[in-house]
Amino acid sequence: MSAAAAYARLAAGDAARRREFDVARRRAVLARLAEEIRAREGEIMAALAADLAKPEVEVRISEIIPVLSEIRHSARHLKRWARPRRVWPTLAMLGTRGTIRPEPKGTVLIIAPWNYPFCLALGPLVSAIAAGNAAVIKPSELAPATSALIASLVAAALPEDLVTVVEGGVETSTELLAQPFDHIFFTGSPAVGRVVMAAAAKTLASVTLELGGKSPVILGDGADVQKAARMLAWGKFQNAGQTCIAPDHVYVPRAMEPALTAALRAEIARMYGGAPKESPSYARLIGARHFARLKGMLDEALAGGATLIAGGAAEEGARYLAPTVLTSLPGETALMREEIFGPVLPVIAYDDLEAVLRGIEAGEKPLALYLFARDRALIARVTASTTSGALGVNVTLAHFLHLNLPFGGIGNSGLGAAHGRWGFAAFSHEKPILENRFAVLDPLMPPYTKLSARIARM
Ligand code: NAD
Repeated sequence: MSAAAAYARLAAGDAARRREFDVARRRAVLARLAEEIRAREGEIMAALAADLAKPEVEVRISEIIPVLSEIRHSARHLKRWARPRRVWPTLAMLGTRGTIRPEPKGTVLIIAPWNYPFCLALGPLVSAIAAGNAAVIKPSELAPATSALIASLVAAALPEDLVTVVEGGVETSTELLAQPFDHIFFTGSPAVGRVVMAAAAKTLASVTLELGGKSPVILGDGADVQKAARMLAWGKFQNAGQTCIAPDHVYVPRAMEPALTAALRAEIARMYGGAPKESPSYARLIGARHFARLKGMLDEALAGGATLIAGGAAEEGARYLAPTVLTSLPGETALMREEIFGPVLPVIAYDDLEAVLRGIEAGEKPLALYLFARDRALIARVTASTTSGALGVNVTLAHFLHLNLPFGGIGNSGLGAAHGRWGFAAFSHEKPILENRFAVLDPLMPPYTKLSARIARM
């Protein structure tokens, strides 16, 4: 189906949906979606195995459970989120009744990336439906098996006048972006985020931009190095580093560097064994272009004198890059400029925490910043002196799974937030309704009297 036809078919139902798609019906649609996902778990795993060699447990934890949890959480809280809320009148508004009524934005567009191609297409869909919208989903063409599966799953489970999947690449995405959607929820790179926002400016669609960038890690003096290494290895090497909130690079006090690199080596061996290529727990890179980019970055750093602490092995045909740790990086490398988005972890020894914080502040605002520390004063200092989409203290990744926290970036890492009630809010318009019951507003109207003048001075 063409982009224009997909949009038109859904948008035609906007007015009726606003009247009829009540909380009970939204819940029923979400329950049906959950049922279909559960019934087709095997197919979901096969698709993600084909696209990314994602281990089954990882598919469950990072692709299926987040969507099912979002459904459960929305179903549980939807009545409260959707309920019109009365507000107190201000003094001047005595005699009025003010209400805020969340209403669906209308017909929305969801554009998804390839790295968590199932969760990042269907998670936002849950929020869109919870808020009462119709949606077009454009999955990533770089994860073709998952894209096809999403199309088939949605067609089987959801009404065709509510959700349509349009498969395709940049051209399809561009055609979709030309349609007058009421909201665009985009997950992907900051570069394409700019394209999406420029397209949205033409129709004045609102946008949520879930973007990426470098997410730095700081180890403070006295941090628990073993625990930090475990969290870092998990956060960095899950999905072979292709995670938007993966720890990008690590700053460690110089004296702690040997202990951290030894602990990282031990954690890699514990998680993936002596030969990660044989490990059923280790994923593959998405494709040849991504492989070449990462291999190029790694080779450049090594040629510049970086020290290889772990990994380094790469096989293009198998789209395999070993869990890799580097130290002593030369100053100016692509690894330190671009979002790495792969299983290469630069460890950078520091002498002066202030300089590290200034460096982070000087760069683009990260999607996540991670701090490993025991000292409350240090935690407070880093919290107050940095800005990022999220701050993880002694943890990586897990804030994504916490549905009572908003998930999103700031500046270059994104705009707006997803998950739970923030996801619901992203797809809702909070309509203020002011009803006049016995307010006396005459002094605001001409001819102006002494009372008008007095009010004007208030
Ligand atoms: P991408 O920006 O290349 O592509 C994302 C989507 O946009 C795809 O569906 C693609 O078809 C489409 N697209 C690509 N180029 C386009 C163009 N010129 N015009 C219109 N549409 C276009 O991103 P990706 O490579 O799929 O994903 C990797 C990036 O996404 C990383 O930067 C990562 O950090 C980020 N990411 C962010 C989150 C988050 O929640 N914040 C989650 C996952 C990934």
